[in-house]
Amino acid sequence: QSLEIISFLKQLSEDFRISVTDKQLSLEASFQQEPVYVAIDKFYFSTAILNVLDNAVKYSKGEVDISLSTSTDKGFFILKIKDQGIGIPKAAQHYLFDKFYRVSQGNLQSNQGLGLGLYYTQQIILAHGGVLKVESEKGKGSTFIIKIPMER
Ligand code: ATP
Ligand code: MG
Repeated sequence: QSLEIISFLKQLSEDFRISVTDKQLSLEASFQQEPVYVAIDKFYFSTAILNVLDNAVKYSKGEVDISLSTSTDKGFFILKIKDQGIGIPKAAQHYLFDKFYRVSQGNLQSNQGLGLGLYYTQQIILAHGGVLKVESEKGKGSTFIIKIPMER
C-alpha cells in the first residue's frame, strides 16, 4: 500500500510529543514541503519509528532533545532521528540491531528493556527494501538514519 510519508510523520511526531509526559521534551521537526510516497504498511512503519523515538527518550538524561529531518536521494526517502542522549560506544554499534542486544550501562535500573526494539525496527525497514544505520559516539548523542525506496 502507498503511504504519503510526510503527512504521516507530521501526525506521528505530534502524537509522540503528547505521549512523552515523564520527561521534558524538545522535539524539533523539519519536514520538506513536497509529498513523498513509499510502499509501506502504516502500522509496521509506526512501530519502527516509535522504537527509535522511545530509545531517544529512554537513553537521554535530563531533558530529551530530538530533531527529525527528512530528505530524498537517488530514489530513496531519508529520515534522520537525532538525539543528544548518552550515545553508543563504537564497539557496540556492530551489535545494536541484533536480537536481545543491549549496551551494558552498569546498574542503571531505570533503563529496562528486552533489546528487541531496534531488532524489530531493522527487520521492518529491511522488509521494505530499506536500510537502517546509526551514527553515534559515547557521550555525544546518536543519529538513526532510515532509508526507504520511494514509489514512482
Ligand atoms: P526494548 O526496545 O526491547 O524495550 P532496548 O531499548 O534495550 O529494549 P533496543 O531498542 O533494541 O533495546 O536498543 C538496544 C540497545 O541500544 C539499548 O539497550 C541501548 O543500550 C542502546 N541504544 C538504543 N538506542 C539508543 C540511543 N538513542 N542512545 C543511546 N543508546 C541507545
Ligand atoms: Mg528500545
